[in-house]
Amino acid sequence: MYDLIIIGGGPAGITAAATAINQRLETLIIAAQWGGQTTYAMQVEDMEGRETITGETLLDAFRRQLDYLDFVRDFDTVTEVTPVEDHFVLETVQGHHYEGRSLVIATGAKPQRLDVLGEKRLAGRGLSYSVDTHAGLFLGKDVAVVGQGRRAQWAVASLAHKAHRVYLLAYEPLVTTPLVSKLDQMENVQVIKDARVQEVGGDASVEYIVAAMPDGEVREIPVKGVFVKLARTPNSGLVREWVNCDSRGHIIVDSYCATNWPGVFAAGDVTHVSEQVLVHIGEGAKSAISACHYLLMR
Ligand SMILES: Cc1cc2nc3c(=O)[nH]c(=O)nc-3n(C[C@H](O)[C@H](O)[C@H](O)COP(=O)(O)OP(=O)(O)OC[C@H]3O[C@@H](n4cnc5c(N)ncnc54)[C@H](O)[C@@H]3O)c2cc1C
Repeated sequence: MYDLIIIGGGPAGITAAATAINQRLETLIIAAQWGGQTTYAMQVEDMEGRETITGETLLDAFRRQLDYLDFVRDFDTVTEVTPVEDHFVLETVQGHHYEGRSLVIATGAKPQRLDVLGEKRLAGRGLSYSVDTHAGLFLGKDVAVVGQGRRAQWAVASLAHKAHRVYLLAYEPLVTTPLVSKLDQMENVQVIKDARVQEVGGDASVEYIVAAMPDGEVREIPVKGVFVKLARTPNSGLVREWVNCDSRGHIIVDSYCATNWPGVFAAGDVTHVSEQVLVHIGEGAKSAISACHYLLMR
């Protein structure tokens, strides 16, 4: 029986596993895909380069630590997690059966892409999925945010302090909240409700976004950056029946990454905490240390 089983091989899971191994826990990390979702450096013409330490750089260091420890890894998909007395039983697609005294759930969230012309080609060339990581590159430029929920609204509020003009292209009318009212008051923010994005265009990097306006007119808006902030679905289905989640399916954790179920911890996009690799690296480490403390007290 393992001391700790980590489900997920993204930034949160990899860091949790590296931390647990350093704590000398009998550890297993199970990941359908090694490395999780992509992050990349932004390469945009006529923008100053900045010396930044990215989450990717940090994650690489942790990943290298695990890469040669093949006995702690299983590249497989967990299909079922069952709490049994004082431990947990896991089943996988390849028919493996594992038992662990504690768990870290780091299964991430399913992103929603724009699925329009130019999205793939210009990702990392002005098109980004992370305002926290890339907003600072667009000082004094015109940018667009696509989405309508709170993540999109916060993205606009954050960009409005850096960019020259920010367009929010929302697919549906926005529910009025204090944050939406705040955006309405910002002079350099233009909220376009009921817009449908059709294309992100440009040669070497983003130069414009094309969207159908609510009145049917198709408009090309010149922008240097596009931030995709559509809804995401947390991958919490394995434990949602017995671990507390919020209304959107995020696993609810306390400041120690502990869930309501003793011995179950969670970190990364599957929780309601942030959506940035740098933050998930910290949360992953924290979840493993919390699991270690839990095991010491048993
Ligand atoms: C296109 C894109 C670009 C992004 N760009 C940036 C950026 O520039 N900067 C930034 O900070 N953030 C960026 N993000 C967000 C960032 O990538 C995520 O916040 C981060 O990867 C989440 O880490 P995580 O460990 O929680 O989950 P993930 O990285 O999503 O990893 C989840 C892991 O769980 C595994 N898994 C899921 N279910 C199971 C199962 N049942 N059994 C076994 N394994 C399972 C998956 O295979 C994967 O290994 C971007 C996201 C996307 C989609």
